[in-house]
Amino acid sequence: MLLENKVCVITGAASPRGIGRNTAELFHKHGAYVAILDLNQAQSEEAARAVGERAFGVACDVTDKASCEKAVAAVLEKFGRIDVLLNNAGITQPLKTLEITPENYEQVTDVSLRGMLYMSQAVLPQMVSQNSGSIVNTSSVSAQRGGGIFGGPHYSAAKAGMLGLGKAMAREFGGHNIRINSVTPGLILTDITGGKLTPEMKEKILTTIPLNRLGAAEDVSKAFLFLASDLSSYITGATIDVNGGMHI
Ligand code: NAD
Repeated sequence: MLLENKVCVITGAASPRGIGRNTAELFHKHGAYVAILDLNQAQSEEAARAVGERAFGVACDVTDKASCEKAVAAVLEKFGRIDVLLNNAGITQPLKTLEITPENYEQVTDVSLRGMLYMSQAVLPQMVSQNSGSIVNTSSVSAQRGGGIFGGPHYSAAKAGMLGLGKAMAREFGGHNIRINSVTPGLILTDITGGKLTPEMKEKILTTIPLNRLGAAEDVSKAFLFLASDLSSYITGATIDVNGGMHI
């Protein structure tokens, strides 16, 4: 039990096969109270019911500051504290540089960057008052390699921005015993990726992955568990690659 009685907020955790949902299940198994924040109230509640009795579902659009504040207030009313924030909500668009419209750019960067900033701003006063907390941010190997199969350059930019924002916040809040770290997943089989992979694409990708398999959601959620829990008590401002060796 690595998160016994810890209150963990996870954004983008309603999607049944997603990394966020898998992490909600793992954190719950480790004794956590889990708040599932996703765009749709009914889907967030349904996900919470599926995760277990200590889970709570709340609607939240992470691109909207007021929505983040409202969702965090609901979590505090329900559970009374917040120990962990996992910024996991993310969207991608398989576009090339010349195809990206201003709307595309805003859609993708808003969910990753505004979402991370607004959610962090919403939970940090509570974490400061507790003098403890862990924030974990979901970046991507696309930030490090400059693109992937499904993410456009604007996705790479947004995910790289999350690394910079996370390091700056880690410096600022270290004195409050709040740790802020990032994970850069490689190609993980979820709804974002799974349905779109042809056998030929899969074969080509495998030649770039030393561990010779695609990632599963639990490969990432185990890294999230490490960073959320006291196992990583002296780690802040760090980035953990979870990519099978794709970026050695
Ligand atoms: P997913 O599509 O299964 O889950 C993403 C979730 O985010 C969905 O439940 C969606 O409803 C939610 N969401 C989207 N916009 C939102 C918003 N504005 N407010 C709140 N919630 C919102 O995707 P996934 O593959 O589980 O991805 C999870 C995270 O991991 C994302 O940040 C993604 O960019 C990142 N990632 C995924 C991969 C991969 O290969 N799957 C690789 C690297 C990084």
